[in-house]
Amino acid sequence: MADEKEVKRCAHPGCGCPADEDSDYCSAYCEGAGDTAEIDCECGCPTCH
Ligand SMILES: [Zn+2]
Ligand SMILES: [Zn+2]
Repeated sequence: MADEKEVKRCAHPGCGCPADEDSDYCSAYCEGAGDTAEIDCECGCPTCH
């Protein structure tokens, strides 16, 4: 069995980064673009690029 914790993912449709504990998004970029279904996420997270 995997011993992974349940990680909340960023609410941005085009982003798959883990979200901050205090937020539904991984970054301010995604928080501002949360309603925009952009394919290219430019949040700057290394996991996104
Ligand atoms: Zn991202
Ligand atoms: Zn994000």
